[in-house]
Amino acid sequence: MSCIFCKIINKEMKSKMIHEDEEIVVFHDINPQAPVHVLVVPKKHISAITEMHEGDQKLIGKMIYLAKEVAGELGIAGNGFRLVLNNGPDANQTVPHIHLHVIGGRQMGWPPG
Ligand code: AMP
Ligand code: ZN
Repeated sequence: MSCIFCKIINKEMKSKMIHEDEEIVVFHDINPQAPVHVLVVPKKHISAITEMHEGDQKLIGKMIYLAKEVAGELGIAGNGFRLVLNNGPDANQTVPHIHLHVIGGRQMGWPPG
């Protein structure tokens, strides 16, 4: 499997992992866009949100719940944070394995670029 996030999940590639359970890992983004920038990644390889199946709904819900938990642990829950799920070329999705960005620790702009 050539997917870099699958390699991180399988420990074939190093990451700064802060959470792992049977379904999901959370690790620091290698190119952080804010003081806090972590990725919530399901162990199941789903290449994009458009490839989600009906049965994946609970997993995606768990990703959002974990993002909330991690935001609390990293001290950004009080001031707020942004959750981003890029899907496809127009959204600049670069890794074809779904991941929820948790970004915080600074004031964000809107609309996003
Ligand atoms: P996206 O553009 O939504 O597909 O986001 C992919 C994210 O993965 C980017 O923010 C990258 O900085 C991040 N990334 C790519 N490779 C790694 C890696 N080996 N470890 C941690 N984060 C990575
Ligand atoms: Zn993968």
